[in-house]
Amino acid sequence: MDRRDFFGSALGAGLAGASPLTAQNIAGPSGLTVERAAEGTPHQGKVLALVTPHLDDGPIFAFGTIAKLLREGYTGYLIRASNDEKDSYDLSAGETVLANERDARALVQATGLKNVFDLGYRNHRMDDISRIEMRARLIFLFRLLKVDTIFSYDPWDHYEENPDHYVTAQSVEAACWMAGGGKDFPEHFAAGLKPHAVRDKYYFARGPQQLVNRVVDIGPTLDAKRVAIHACRTMLTNMVKGVNASLAARKLKVPEFSGSDDQAIDGYIKAEFERRDAETGRKHGLAYAEEFHYIAPDPALDEYISRHAVPL
Ligand SMILES: [Zn+2]
Repeated sequence: MDRRDFFGSALGAGLAGASPLTAQNIAGPSGLTVERAAEGTPHQGKVLALVTPHLDDGPIFAFGTIAKLLREGYTGYLIRASNDEKDSYDLSAGETVLANERDARALVQATGLKNVFDLGYRNHRMDDISRIEMRARLIFLFRLLKVDTIFSYDPWDHYEENPDHYVTAQSVEAACWMAGGGKDFPEHFAAGLKPHAVRDKYYFARGPQQLVNRVVDIGPTLDAKRVAIHACRTMLTNMVKGVNASLAARKLKVPEFSGSDDQAIDGYIKAEFERRDAETGRKHGLAYAEEFHYIAPDPALDEYISRHAVPL
């Protein structure tokens, strides 16, 4: 049986909430769904995980949506795949690992995520790791945390030059359904865990993304997204100082990228990331938006079950 026919179905995912469509979440004539803020906390009890190869990927591409879902009741976890040893401006490799590890904890504190799990793979070398090992670690975490919803890079997209991105994406995609199997890693069950498939997936890409079928209005959570990106301060400092150094070599400067470190980082976030989110929003009639390849639970059996199911 194809895995999605079973584990992604209403039987696999549970009948409650199997349909992804709500009043705040409407598919237009193009098949593109625009997801807007929901009233209250409809996602109370659900769990999301951001599996990010490097600390800044998830905040840059998806944290407007993650902040929205946290406000709507989700509990959230950060899973950081690499040790980020390559991303600082002027620190040594060892100092860079420590600085980014501290930033990851600061991000969790600043955003209301519950915890971070560092997988610790070496930065820019993940195409040399065992994907089966990474997949097994993710399956363990998905079962332990009972993850319903995942955010990560799109494993089906093109033009990705960073091996850490596509290795993480492929490992996540496989782990999401395999975590629901009853014969993968049976020692987990002896330790008290149960099979638990991930229900739905928000995949982002550096673009141009081949398939975008969900747009999320992040106007209400733009400030929370800025806080999340700002928490990656070692990486943002690298970006700001790198741009300033290249401008200085041309006898130029951008005033918005100067001042205190915090001011320069915020100026850079607005110029680089909020400007891009505004451009994305303009395409869809929104002030700010994020785009995703979204994979929902397969509703194939929902209608049949609603007509045929009877009490035991
Ligand atoms: Zn990255």
